[in-house]
Amino acid sequence: MAGIYIHIPFCRKKCTYCDFHFSTTFQGYRGEMLLKMIEELENRAQEIQDPIESVYFGGGTPSLLTPDEIGNFLLAIRSQFSLSTDAEITLEVNPEDLILENLDAWWRLGFNRLSIGVQTMNDELLTWMNRNHRATDTRKGLDLLQQYAFSVSIDLIFGVPQQTEADLEELLALIDTYPIAHVSAYALTQEPQTLLHHRVKTGKEPQLNDEQQVAHYRLVEQALSTRGFEHYEVSNYAKPEKRAVHNGNYWKGKAYLGLGPGAHSFDGKRTRRWNVSNNAQYLKQQDWYEEETLSADNQWNELWLTGLRTQHGVTIERIDALGGFRVEEQRMLETLIKQDKIHLQHNGYCLAQDHWLAADGISMQLFRAG
Ligand code: SF4
Repeated sequence: MAGIYIHIPFCRKKCTYCDFHFSTTFQGYRGEMLLKMIEELENRAQEIQDPIESVYFGGGTPSLLTPDEIGNFLLAIRSQFSLSTDAEITLEVNPEDLILENLDAWWRLGFNRLSIGVQTMNDELLTWMNRNHRATDTRKGLDLLQQYAFSVSIDLIFGVPQQTEADLEELLALIDTYPIAHVSAYALTQEPQTLLHHRVKTGKEPQLNDEQQVAHYRLVEQALSTRGFEHYEVSNYAKPEKRAVHNGNYWKGKAYLGLGPGAHSFDGKRTRRWNVSNNAQYLKQQDWYEEETLSADNQWNELWLTGLRTQHGVTIERIDALGGFRVEEQRMLETLIKQDKIHLQHNGYCLAQDHWLAADGISMQLFRAG
């Protein structure tokens, strides 16, 4: 089984904290870009032979496309790939696009999952984030959504300096009113090249506060677990049977084809490919991607980096497939087990949940120098 990721590199505004690849001045070449991306899809279809179990439209802002524009991608996918009948087909949506006309069209096109960039229900924070929507757009959209059977996921951001615990509780209370099945909760980070980074560097914004971020993380975890959500990855929570198939497959090392500027692909074995993160260059180029073959050591490191972030951990089967532990790694693992940071469970090594926030640092202790 494999997945397809379509990266729509357009946004209406630039959010304060965002370092994804997109352009806000795309109207002049919008049609040309979408045609080029479909050409890429048709040219690269032979890279994936397995049935497709997930399709994910991300970005950027895929929900700003018209239903006809989105439909053209789905037509091309259905004609070029073997799409499983129960495939998860997700559209990333900004709340301002949750209008009846779109919802009808997305449902008819075959989407069965919407991932909504709610972020917060506090309008002052939305203004600070430079988001294009307001809390009322989210509420109206979620009201409309009750007429449809989409599986609904929401994104939220915590650890924003002026955000209070009451703000987070108000947002999480949406779950009591609406049938939200999945939550992705991300700590605000200060990435280079963002407006946030510039503001912090020039003293216009305070530094992010680690203690506040930890407190918010714990609050979200607690609030969601009391509402019946399973914390199955550091940043992801799901109601039973509602884990994200697409992202889950990234963590399991399955193959996916990423299309569009800035998209990444993986063949499920050792080859990673990535497209240029520049819209003008993407339109001009002849070659679709650059690629690298992962060394065995890189595969080992990735296994721990992704696996320890998830509830199922790193399976013994995948460890064995990479030749098993070396002596020094085995020693480090035993130390981490003695410290109650890692435990053996369900045929895999899992990080104890109270250490999930330190997952990246702990997995690095098991890295190979390469
Ligand atoms: S809408 Fe999403 S992708 Fe676009 S700038 Fe905002 S956070 Fe980034």
